[in-house]
Amino acid sequence: MSDPFQLAQRLQERREQHLYRQRRLLESAQQAHIQCDGRALLNFCSNDYLGLAHHPRVITAAQQAMEQFGFGSGASHLVIGHSRVHHELEERLADWVGCQRALLFSTGYMANVGVISALVERGDTVLEDKLNHASLLDGAQLSRGQLQRYHHNDVSSLQQRLMQASGRTLVVTDSVFSMDGDVAPLQDISSLCQQHNAWLMVDDAHGLGVLGGGRGCLAEYGFTSQQVPIYMGTLGKALGTFGAFVAGDEPLIEYLIQSARSYIYTTAMPPSVAAATLASLDLLNAEQWRVEKLRQLIAYFKQGANQLGLPMMPSATAIQPLLLHDSEAALRVSDALLRKGFLVGAIRPPTVPANSARLRITLSADHSERDIDQLLDALSEASPKNTKII
Ligand SMILES: *Cc1c(COP(=O)(O)O)cnc(C)c1O
Repeated sequence: MSDPFQLAQRLQERREQHLYRQRRLLESAQQAHIQCDGRALLNFCSNDYLGLAHHPRVITAAQQAMEQFGFGSGASHLVIGHSRVHHELEERLADWVGCQRALLFSTGYMANVGVISALVERGDTVLEDKLNHASLLDGAQLSRGQLQRYHHNDVSSLQQRLMQASGRTLVVTDSVFSMDGDVAPLQDISSLCQQHNAWLMVDDAHGLGVLGGGRGCLAEYGFTSQQVPIYMGTLGKALGTFGAFVAGDEPLIEYLIQSARSYIYTTAMPPSVAAATLASLDLLNAEQWRVEKLRQLIAYFKQGANQLGLPMMPSATAIQPLLLHDSEAALRVSDALLRKGFLVGAIRPPTVPANSARLRITLSADHSERDIDQLLDALSEASPKNTKII
């Protein structure tokens, strides 16, 4: 067969560079103790930070909504796919993060691409942190504005670019970086944006449910819509469901409804997904212990990892990466952990910069201290010192 794109060769190169990716088969609900590829495993790689993805109340809410609204939404929001339960979720989300309005998107990827490409036009500038999520970079590419990336969490690098920017300027950053776990200097970034009359968009995919008592980075820092005009949160991570939303002042949301193509030209999420998210918001608020327990487990893990002298990256969030640099080393350690029954993601380029392969350990309120003790034991046996990686 002809292969004008040389796929076979490109796949082989990936294999040789230890960059080939494979999917595992999950055979249970998403939770701490899972069944995967025919084995019982302890899961340290999901983003279900509060253990809500399998909660019975979330499941019941989805079932009840299916009884009332059926399963499929049947159309886009602007045609006839926008149900009462979607609308109620938008109102609850806006209220919860402290914004005037919120707008549901089917995924976080689509929210990011939709917002940036709707606001920014040819001649405008988008300034992004080098380590921003791929969807934020893709949104800027699609917008035809000029994309410039500043050094990671480096306010002076941002300032330099702000001084040279032409046209209207949008500054975009993750709050909690998805592969690093560190938090952007949001207060400094926000002040700089205000000084330069630029708008700031914050992607809080890994902050919502974790920072600000669960309400995310706006609550954590007490930001107003003047300080953070565009807020994006995802529902598929700490909230345990699916989808995303953008929050801000009324004109922003109305403008996005008119012009964000990934909002307009796609089918609305099933109403049962919105109902499940309402239930998960209720749980998060009524059972604040989840957010608190996650905080305690993070501290517990960090203390144990430090005692073992593991090369952890500096992070105070649920994402605790162990830096191994080399892709082959990352694979080797994650395979060693897997043999002991622990599932930890080996994150390699191009998801992270060259020579910064790592294990991305994620913690959840669904874990117990015992789970973490067991992981630490396994890490100390499989870690760099013992496998002569560094
Ligand atoms: C996961 C993620 C997204 C995408 O959200 P989905 O709902 O999974 O499409 C966007 N930004 C960041 C920082 C993420 O981690």
